[in-house]
Amino acid sequence: MSAQSAAPIRAAEALRKKLAKIGLHREADLLVHLPLRYEDETQLTPAAAALGGEPVQVEVVVHNSEVQFRPRRQMVVRAADASGEITLRFFSFYPSQQAALAVGTRIRAFGEVRGGFFGAEMVHPRFHRVADDEPLPTELTPIYPSTAGVANSALQKLIGKALAEADLADTLPEDLRQRLNLPGFARSLRFLHMPPPGTDLATLQARNHPAWRRIKLDEVLAQQLSLRRAYLARRERGAPVLVARDDLGARLLDGLPFGLTGAQLRAMAEIAGDLAQPYPMQRLLQGDVGAGKTIVAALAACQAISAGWQAAFMAPTEILAEQHYLKLRDWLAPLGVRVAWLSGSLKSAARRTQLAATAADAQLVVGTHALIQDGVDFARLGLAIVDEQHRFGVAQRLALRKKGDNPHQLMMSATPIPRTLAMSYYADLDVTVLDELPPGRTPVKTRLVADSRRADVVGFVRKHVEEGRQAYWVCPLIEESEALQLQTAQETYAALSSELSGLMVGLVHGRLKADEKQAVMAAFAAGEIDVLVATTVIEVGVDIPNASLMVIEHAERFGLSQLHQLRGRVGRGRYESSCILLYAGPLGEVARQRLKIIFENSDGFEIARQDLKIRGPGEFVGSRQSGVPLLRYADLELDADLVEMARDIAEAMLVEHPVLAEKHLQRWLGSREELLKS
Ligand code: ADP
Ligand code: MG
Repeated sequence: MSAQSAAPIRAAEALRKKLAKIGLHREADLLVHLPLRYEDETQLTPAAAALGGEPVQVEVVVHNSEVQFRPRRQMVVRAADASGEITLRFFSFYPSQQAALAVGTRIRAFGEVRGGFFGAEMVHPRFHRVADDEPLPTELTPIYPSTAGVANSALQKLIGKALAEADLADTLPEDLRQRLNLPGFARSLRFLHMPPPGTDLATLQARNHPAWRRIKLDEVLAQQLSLRRAYLARRERGAPVLVARDDLGARLLDGLPFGLTGAQLRAMAEIAGDLAQPYPMQRLLQGDVGAGKTIVAALAACQAISAGWQAAFMAPTEILAEQHYLKLRDWLAPLGVRVAWLSGSLKSAARRTQLAATAADAQLVVGTHALIQDGVDFARLGLAIVDEQHRFGVAQRLALRKKGDNPHQLMMSATPIPRTLAMSYYADLDVTVLDELPPGRTPVKTRLVADSRRADVVGFVRKHVEEGRQAYWVCPLIEESEALQLQTAQETYAALSSELSGLMVGLVHGRLKADEKQAVMAAFAAGEIDVLVATTVIEVGVDIPNASLMVIEHAERFGLSQLHQLRGRVGRGRYESSCILLYAGPLGEVARQRLKIIFENSDGFEIARQDLKIRGPGEFVGSRQSGVPLLRYADLELDADLVEMARDIAEAMLVEHPVLAEKHLQRWLGSREELLKS
């Protein structure tokens, strides 16, 4: 790519700062800053004929302009052409706009016309001054995504200049482009920025014109190239070769009360193969809630340990990390494995002991984020395991890896990532899917119950406990205020304690101290608590087979994956399990859709697919993409075929056309490529 396009945008400092806010830094960024929509300014409508519905353009001369303060502050401009009069109304405006609309000015205004008090009026039209006999444009006007203080016309000018000066040579190899029957890059860009006269607006807006397809493919291809390159670079880094030197794994399996599922065996084999390679594994183990990921991770840890290395196991919450610690210690300590435990809540003496063990002879270290803090040194970290990986940011996962010298990494997630999303954001990872639940699981019966029948639900809970089971009662999520959420949990706890008199009701929430939380969870696990009132701290991982009823209050406030995760806390033992979703009407459209999906589906992948449709990909990929829309044009649902295509192209292109590949990456990502690293 020419040095010129990689160069910063040539504009005044103030403008450059504003452009940076919308991701425009380089000349090259301008090229692929494509219109949101187009407006037809090639024609004029007489003011008298301008009526509601379609947006129109009028050319009028201002004959009165004033700022009014009632009923609210606004600038009211009256203007006319030969046919009649029109009012332009602005509720927010800059002094510069006021000046531009001085009496006597001739302007063209574009917008929708409504009938107002003074007859026809436009609210916040786009307008610009024109000379007496200024010719009309012959092309559709592209409307660009912009930010405060950057006029569309200014962007249009900058982009026009960039287009004229930049190197627009194609980065798709010619034979490929022809085979795919896609138009060239330069032609596509010019077409989208400056659609020729007569172009059908509908086709342009719908974004399925071949020019759009071409641009979307380019965009997805850049992402795939970048991910693929990272994937290949990883193979060049040296990692410890972890080959088991004893039968630790086999002994762990022998002691288990269950045999592995086919899916677990397959996952184990894949991981075992990776660990024995001389470059670092980076594998994502995906499995629906309850699929049994922990034992697979434990077996991986065994392989590292028996090869003479350490394994680390990091989980996002104290409750979960501690549960893993207890379980792994139960499994492994009897086999002679030294297990250490690090969490933020350790008292300083205990912490010192655990730190010393980690730096010396501990073989497995389990913990929370405490594992990645400064001052935590591993003697020989060979394998880093991250549970519920989507709850950690890139930086945190990286920090754990930095605790060793290119250790292998195993990430786990019960938030299933739809295939297209996995392919486009996690293509630098290898993915193993546990697509089979352990046998004997009872499907969870889901019921939707209106809040007005809460008393019946309380009765149901009592009956359930009298049958010897336990229940969770999850309090509503209150996103705006953690304090309010806590208060609600405490109120619910008080109410249920009296409604369920005679039963043991417990409470766990995020504000409890770690040891208090542990004590409550331990009491619940031991059956000393019948009904556990909880906030979403129990969302991930918690595993108590005798708890087979879950009530979720105000289920309409939860996201889909959260409901699925929560529901996954039950149905873990041999008892028939149910999940009652209490909701308060009237339900909004999105809430209704969500509840319907969770009611009708038990498969986490299907739920995630539907969730993607409702929410868009942003929330799935977590903190990694925060604020940076890496895919601006392609839509992972609608353009799934392009993602598949781009992946294959990227693989071949890096081998056969490395120069073009590099140029393509520069053009599309430039310095943003960093953001794609995992
Ligand atoms: P998740 O994939 O959600 O992390 P866990 O690893 O917590 O699931 O496993 C859920 C429960 O299933 C645990 O109690 C675990 O011991 C048990 N489990 C795991 N694998 C099997 C299996 N193959 N057969 C029976 N139970 C299993
Ligand atoms: Mg788990």
